[in-house]
Amino acid sequence: MSDCLVIGGGVIGMMSARTLAMAGAKVTLIDQRACGKESSWAGGGIISPLYPWQYSDLVNELSRASQAVYGDLCAALLDNTGIDPEYIHSGLLMMDEYNTPEAQEWMDKHRFDFQSHPQGALFANIAQVRNPRLLKALKADIFKRGVKIVEYTKVNQLITENSTTLGVVTDNKKYYADHTIVCSGAWSSSLLDAKNTIYPIKGQMIVIKSKAGVVEHIVLDQGRYIIPRKDGQLLIGSTMEDVGFERSIDAQVGADLLAFAVARFPQLKDANIEHHWAGFRPASKADVMIEKHPQLAHLYINTGHFRNGLNMAPESANRIKQMIEG
Ligand SMILES: Cc1cc2nc3c(=O)[nH]c(=O)nc-3n(C[C@H](O)[C@H](O)[C@H](O)COP(=O)(O)OP(=O)(O)OC[C@H]3O[C@@H](n4cnc5c(N)ncnc54)[C@H](O)[C@@H]3O)c2cc1C
Repeated sequence: MSDCLVIGGGVIGMMSARTLAMAGAKVTLIDQRACGKESSWAGGGIISPLYPWQYSDLVNELSRASQAVYGDLCAALLDNTGIDPEYIHSGLLMMDEYNTPEAQEWMDKHRFDFQSHPQGALFANIAQVRNPRLLKALKADIFKRGVKIVEYTKVNQLITENSTTLGVVTDNKKYYADHTIVCSGAWSSSLLDAKNTIYPIKGQMIVIKSKAGVVEHIVLDQGRYIIPRKDGQLLIGSTMEDVGFERSIDAQVGADLLAFAVARFPQLKDANIEHHWAGFRPASKADVMIEKHPQLAHLYINTGHFRNGLNMAPESANRIKQMIEG
């Protein structure tokens, strides 16, 4: 396979780079910051759409195909890098929505089963990954596979001639490649000259410390969730804010998220917020954009994964590879 240039080193960019490198491509990946510090770091790492019936068939298809390979992928990353992405089948306890006619119809159609639980419905097969570790492992893995990683380098524009993309311009240098893949998350619109096609939806999240086992499963209720990590940390999220790239966090939101968890697990009443952050989900008018650019040859787009980029990343990368291979 020929040379590929990946713009953006979030989960989508690094997974794309890995898949292309494994197919034999010579890959360069460019990020304006360090890799894996934006939405992919800020996310929760649930390897499933939250209420799957609220998403399109495409999103569910990408998720299902990714779920099928996630365990092996994380094992291979651990093996190759020594970094454990902590992929765990913690199961997801859904406290609401599972008994609506829409949910029931969807579950019947897709043979999606749950176990009855005193507090709702337990989807035992749903897994999580510790996304900051997944990103570290991905970065180490692609580096070992020979991907050239260029950090703290902003891509300012594409180089285009006769409706063909030849590469990109950064502040210091031009990079040329046979294929360019835009994986720039919530920032992708500016490069694609497609204003507002992809836009940021901010999400705030907190983490508190608890003892391992206090919260056994991922808990989902009223659109909010608690994710128990292996070491007892509990992530509690998240908000959906259409405020552009405004990164501030709001102490009241942190208090509300903590109250959400304490209302369901009173044992957490004395917990303190250890960290509170915000990230920008790449939202798009389409459900997700994994495509060859409609006008510019040799330009590909892998973005717009919104709330499901961590769980759709492996199959999204696979599809981009297939498009490039033709
Ligand atoms: C609070 C929150 C909770 C979430 N929870 C989950 C979850 O549980 N499960 C799930 O599947 N998904 C979740 N998500 C969504 C998921 O995080 C995103 O869909 C996913 O991270 C998108 O990945 P990405 O690589 O496209 O974007 P990003 O991780 O944002 O990466 C884009 C990269 O492109 C770089 N970049 C941008 N512009 C340029 C440029 N011009 N030049 C060079 N580099 C550039 C950026 O620096 C960045 O590193 C959550 C998101 C948030 C915010």
